[in-house]
Amino acid sequence: MDHIIGLKHGGKTMTENLANACSICNESKGSDIATFVDDPENIVRFFNPRIDIWEDHFSLYETGEIIAKSMIGAATIKILRFNHPESIIERKELVRKGLI
Ligand SMILES: [Zn+2]
Repeated sequence: MDHIIGLKHGGKTMTENLANACSICNESKGSDIATFVDDPENIVRFFNPRIDIWEDHFSLYETGEIIAKSMIGAATIKILRFNHPESIIERKELVRKGLI
């Protein structure tokens, strides 16, 4: 379980602010809530699974790679390391088995 908005940013330990996360995403995100995308002036928040729609921000390729469809998607992929080599291998196998 991961806090979507970290406790130090005022997030609460309640269902609306919790999400399942793999260890790579959880450790990579830490208490971050946003990052810079393309430009140091462009701060973009991360995808929030409680308010955002996954398909609006990401595409999943059969290779197991996740591609951004929005700035929020790009920020999230970058910091949570969605395309970490271990994640791609695991995701590719899930795609092959028709589980995702
Ligand atoms: Zn993950």
